[in-house]
Amino acid sequence: MSNTHDRDVSPEPDHGLTRREALAVGAAAALGATARLSEAQDGVAAGHRPVAVASKNGLEAVGRAVRRMEAGLSPVEAAVEGVGIVEADPDDVTVGYGGLPNSEGVVQLDACCMDGPTMRAGAVGALEGFKHPAAVALEVMRRTTRVLLVGEGAARFARSLGFPSENLLTERSRKIWLYWKGQMSSIDDWMTTPEQVQDPDVQWFIKKFGAIRPTGTINLCAVNADGVLGGTTTTSGLFFKIPGRVGDSPLIGAGLYVDGEVGAAGSTGRGESVIQVAGSHTVVEFIRAGKSPREACLGALDRLVRATRMPYLLDTDGRPTFDVKFYAVNPRGESGAAAIWAGAKYAWCRGGTEPELRDCASLYPTPPPWRKDS
Ligand code: ASP
Repeated sequence: MSNTHDRDVSPEPDHGLTRREALAVGAAAALGATARLSEAQDGVAAGHRPVAVASKNGLEAVGRAVRRMEAGLSPVEAAVEGVGIVEADPDDVTVGYGGLPNSEGVVQLDACCMDGPTMRAGAVGALEGFKHPAAVALEVMRRTTRVLLVGEGAARFARSLGFPSENLLTERSRKIWLYWKGQMSSIDDWMTTPEQVQDPDVQWFIKKFGAIRPTGTINLCAVNADGVLGGTTTTSGLFFKIPGRVGDSPLIGAGLYVDGEVGAAGSTGRGESVIQVAGSHTVVEFIRAGKSPREACLGALDRLVRATRMPYLLDTDGRPTFDVKFYAVNPRGESGAAAIWAGAKYAWCRGGTEPELRDCASLYPTPPPWRKDS
């Protein structure tokens, strides 16, 4: 089965490079060496730290993480503070407060964090009622000798530390969930009314995400001025998931991995596929083997696509019917990101600059036919 054809290590056309940086990229391109080109681009940030990279929804978050590192916070703490912006934002229905619920209308959140120097990690899975799961994960890391707490145990832990408990299901997310229930099938008890379809919140959802079952998350990886690494991933997970389903996001090695001497990497996208190849750990291992962060992300995606064997996950050309993105940074401050499909963006910031969106490299040269929002 050939599901890896048409690969494209696409150059990143507009990175706001300085003239010297652009010349370095141009020189590498002139050599005709794709890998060299990638490294020149990834290397733009070399020697300039702190740096934070995140999924596209983390534009503000990378700015805050960089500022917090400049103020002396460790990278893992700065990362958790950064993603707190997105967790609190009801308009991001993929993370934290306002996240889309599971199939029973309950918001269940997953998150983890990892600290490079100590290799310590904390995580929570299927946490209900607390809008900052990454901060709870940080406390698991700080205050316990354990890594992962789930469900009611994770909620009790958060409660015992004084995290405020609240209803995370916003009116918008509740309406979208009810719309989804009505759309599910013609042989169950739920229908969609015309008023439901016309509802502005439901229209917003249809316009933004389309007919497919979308997903979303924020991952943020950070390196401070001393080359110290940390990261976090936080999500409400797959929309309308089976209650109790946990994806890659809270799993160390899957949704996040940080080796203080090598690199930090995280993922967004179809969690089960990331879990199957220990995706973020794989990215870090590629960095250890000498690849740039961007090439390492592409290497892990290549492995993931080769491991995608089930026909229900493949289109007629043998390509995945989903997307996954990896984001990575190394201790030198070099960073990169890649997606299976073209057209995706990621957020990037380094000390002294404004946060910006950059193009992810991709395995395939075209955007997926089903993409509404990258
Ligand atoms: N990785 C998340 C999950 O599988 C969803 C996403 O990032 O889109 O739960």
